[in-house]
Amino acid sequence: MYDILIIGAGPAGMTAAIYGQRGGKKTVLFDQLSYGGQVINTPDVANYPGMPNMTGLEFANQVYKQFTELGAEMKYEKITQVKDADKPIKTVVTESGNEYQCKSIIIATGAQPRPLGVEGEEKFRGAGISYCATCDGAFFRDKVVAVAGGGNTALEDAETLSDLAKKVYLIHRRDEFRADATNVARVKSKDNVELVLNAVVTGLKGDKFIEGVEVEDKVTKEKRTLDVNGVFVAIGQVPKNEVFKDFVKLNKAGYVEAGEDCQTGTPGIFVAGDCRTKKVRQIATAVSDGAVAALAAVEHVNKTCYEVNK
Ligand SMILES: Cc1cc2nc3c(=O)[nH]c(=O)nc-3n(C[C@H](O)[C@H](O)[C@H](O)COP(=O)(O)OP(=O)(O)OC[C@H]3O[C@@H](n4cnc5c(N)ncnc54)[C@H](O)[C@@H]3O)c2cc1C
Repeated sequence: MYDILIIGAGPAGMTAAIYGQRGGKKTVLFDQLSYGGQVINTPDVANYPGMPNMTGLEFANQVYKQFTELGAEMKYEKITQVKDADKPIKTVVTESGNEYQCKSIIIATGAQPRPLGVEGEEKFRGAGISYCATCDGAFFRDKVVAVAGGGNTALEDAETLSDLAKKVYLIHRRDEFRADATNVARVKSKDNVELVLNAVVTGLKGDKFIEGVEVEDKVTKEKRTLDVNGVFVAIGQVPKNEVFKDFVKLNKAGYVEAGEDCQTGTPGIFVAGDCRTKKVRQIATAVSDGAVAALAAVEHVNKTCYEVNK
């Protein structure tokens, strides 16, 4: 029986493991793939305080060492079901049919950026293709970049990048944006942002690094190549929370509804990191959630034990 069972070993889950284990609770961490989460895909994490110039993998290795040395367990299995979620003792079921009992659960399953789906996207990951302007924008100072998307994230990315890059193309498949009017107005006021509307990205050009993005005009079907050094993909994120939908509230986009306290409304079930409703999805905010959720789980376990023993 575990006191705290964490689903997802990204920055949020790994931090929760540190806090859970240091809080004196028997803690286990599950991941379907590896430890580290999304961050292992980035060659350069430049915005995490105190650790400049490290790769995502170096960050993940450091935190893994920290929580395993404290005694938290790591298991590589995908969680496919949770039984008795609203009871004091909950059961988690894995893809291979194993069952584990626990007193509290922290959901830290993250989210994946939705890919463009064009050829070369994988090859250029970290070589011009980025899914995070906040993370990678500074690498494109005085360069030419494109942003693909039409929602608030795309517009905010275009605005952020316009202060760093020489020129920004904003490529959107419709002639109107889904983003808030104020975001649209701010971007339109930027001299170095060019709107490429009614257009879809159909290809990426370059050898080792991106040198161009091919776009097709949806009306005329004409194709042209824009010379760019980078393409920022901002067409949404996909959270992976279907497994939990019967006992926690998900919003329309599939994120677990919870505030800064990381509470879900179901006793003993907490949520941390990119998989919950929030504005900023970064390592710094994920690790913050991990600490908050784990301390809440420690408190829950202490209270539950006290009530059972009374
Ligand atoms: C390419 C890239 C570069 C980035 N660069 C930066 C950066 O430089 N700085 C920065 O601050 N942020 C960066 N980010 C964002 C940052 O990586 C995320 O905000 C952060 O990883 C979120 O952490 P998390 O723990 O909430 O989720 P994730 O990192 O998404 O981890 C979730 C984990 O849960 C696992 N999981 C999901 N479902 C299940 C299940 N059912 N059972 C078991 N395991 C499951 C997944 O396999 C995954 O390992 C970057 C993101 C990307 C994609």
